Amino acid sequence: MNLHEYQGKEILNSFGVNIQRGIVATTPDEAVEAAKKLTEETGTGWHVIKAQVHAGGRGKGGGVKLAKNLKEVKEIAVEIIGMNLVTPQTSKEGKKVHQVLVAEDVYYPGDSEPEEYYMSVLLDRAQGKNMIMYSPEGGMDIETVAENTPDKIFTEVVDPATGLLPFQARKVAFNLGLSGKAFKEMTKFVSALYKAYTESDSSLFEINPVLKTSDDNILAVDSKVTLDDSALFRHKDYQVLRDVREEDPAEVEAKEAGLSYVNLDGNVGCMVNGAGLAMATMDLIKQAGGEPANFLDVGGTADAKRVEEAFRLILKDEKVEAILINIFGGIVRCDRVAEGVVEAYKNLGDQIKVPIIVRLQGTNADLAKEIIDNSGLNVESAVLFQEAADKVQEVLS
Ligand code: GDP
Ligand code: MN
Repeated sequence: MNLHEYQGKEILNSFGVNIQRGIVATTPDEAVEAAKKLTEETGTGWHVIKAQVHAGGRGKGGGVKLAKNLKEVKEIAVEIIGMNLVTPQTSKEGKKVHQVLVAEDVYYPGDSEPEEYYMSVLLDRAQGKNMIMYSPEGGMDIETVAENTPDKIFTEVVDPATGLLPFQARKVAFNLGLSGKAFKEMTKFVSALYKAYTESDSSLFEINPVLKTSDDNILAVDSKVTLDDSALFRHKDYQVLRDVREEDPAEVEAKEAGLSYVNLDGNVGCMVNGAGLAMATMDLIKQAGGEPANFLDVGGTADAKRVEEAFRLILKDEKVEAILINIFGGIVRCDRVAEGVVEAYKNLGDQIKVPIIVRLQGTNADLAKEIIDNSGLNVESAVLFQEAADKVQEVLS
């Protein structure tokens, strides 16, 4: 689950990471109130107004702007709230902005050279360990840094069994070229950031930029946080941070129905049980000259209700020209699934305008084929993988 910048910063702050402070607002008037409150609390005269959407590169798309007085706060908030923000990380249509973070300006006017760094903590799956990735070249795309000056990117592998050791935090500060107070502040920053990452069960904490102010404080100016969905049950207080407006509506619906669904660009919808078989089915579709329209794992209990829900999801996708159902009946019996398919088909009948190919293999597969073949519906059954592929090819051509 991805978080908004302001939510990530709140978590960081709760673990003692210094942040650029801010207050979230959903209307221009609220933005003005937020700015007034921040001035009282921090003494800041200038504010940055930052669009809160799940996408990076907001600065480039005009979603981060500096306001030098309350009038400008209001003007900028009017402009940003409700806009469709297009950034290098969004689609062409962009993302609608529902709220802004009104933050204190931390790039003080007298500060001739604020230093910006990049820092992230993430899971290194290859090593089965955590990794801190950091660079003195912050504030810009880390991908660009990686491409042009890969030697400017450092990594520190952290064994989850020992946690971040003090010498490692010092190494990070050293490699960023810091000394004196800034060095100390950076070691505290890294340690607190690592703690936030592990204790929140996250798979990513990315701070770009990390700012060193002229008075040698270290601040998180931005945050990109991905919480591990599988660990969310341990964090009731984080569950409410989910903003479904930022997610693909079909994927949200699927999650609610207990289906694993990922929307893709192709023309063949697929309904499969088991993630491995789902991947193999996608390969099969490609081999047959199609492109998978989705990844859909209906799970171990492919009963009529789930099959119908899965149908509904696939049919919402206008790109779909054919549907391939590929179920292996191990725990589930194929005849139950076949009945489910027929029942769902009857319930959705007039909505289904594309050919359907069903391959049911495993327990009671013969019975299942009989049910499909005798249903009188526009459903073709296949027994072998190759047969299914051939039929997909046939209906697409
Ligand atoms: P992103 O573009 O989505 O990564 O959003 P960021 O939060 O990283 O902000 C983009 C850029 O806005 C930063 O790299 C900064 O250069 C700038 N910025 C952020 N906060 C401030 C601030 O307090 N004052 C000023 N002047 N610029 C800021
Ligand atoms: Mn950023």
